[in-house]
Amino acid sequence: MKKSSRKVVIAGNWKMNKTRAEAATLIGQLANAPQNADVDVVVCVPFTALETAVNAVKGTAVKVGAQNVHFEKSGAFTGEVSADMLVELGVEYAVIGHSERRQYFGETDATVNNRTRAALVAGLIPILCIGELLEEREAGITEEVLSRQTKLGLAGFTADEVKRIIIAYEPVWAIGTGKTATAEQAGEACGFVRGVIAKLYGEAVADGVTIQYGGSMNAKNGAELLAQEDVDGGLIGGASLVAEDFKTIIKAAVGV
Ligand code: PEP
Repeated sequence: MKKSSRKVVIAGNWKMNKTRAEAATLIGQLANAPQNADVDVVVCVPFTALETAVNAVKGTAVKVGAQNVHFEKSGAFTGEVSADMLVELGVEYAVIGHSERRQYFGETDATVNNRTRAALVAGLIPILCIGELLEEREAGITEEVLSRQTKLGLAGFTADEVKRIIIAYEPVWAIGTGKTATAEQAGEACGFVRGVIAKLYGEAVADGVTIQYGGSMNAKNGAELLAQEDVDGGLIGGASLVAEDFKTIIKAAVGV
């Protein structure tokens, strides 16, 4: 399957930014962003702004995502939010295993796998994040890391389930640092991950999986990164907080 037949997903990861009022304003500014049937635009907002965001996107093509989801349905998990709670709100996507969750909140490949399962069971579209640290790239073990994170993140899923998962390749050294992977590095890594999925599930499945690049994608470099054959969209932090910058990236994806 060619890139042109895969779904492109441009997702903003707002991290711990924006009050409800600010969220409504920013989403209002995205309402006139270009759109087409091949590109989904998602805003992954803080839990507190989810309901506001779901209301604000009504009548637009923008969809709403959370930035995490717990793996149990309910229970004694203080501070956590279940997949069913998100679905009830009208949330459609969930970022899972972001490097900041892995780095600061003890997320492991096993918890990422569990959260992804819970998201899928509830009907959410998981955006499963993987990516190597700077020292891992420098040590020449990027592929080993991506292979491990992909295999463990997808462990136990059927081919049909994998088709519903988005992978975000985010080199940790490029997140929030202003250091972007070159388009070639991004394309190569996303292609490598597709190859890992092909070995696990076959080429037909791998060819259909949306694999995003994330890491300092912005209005200037978005078009070049998105033009890579194996890069099917972006997970965008900083630049998604500025409406004009995010819209420029959406335009590059939509091709207007
Ligand atoms: C992210 O938060 O996933 C991200 C890629 O951030 P930034 O675009 O700011 O590097």
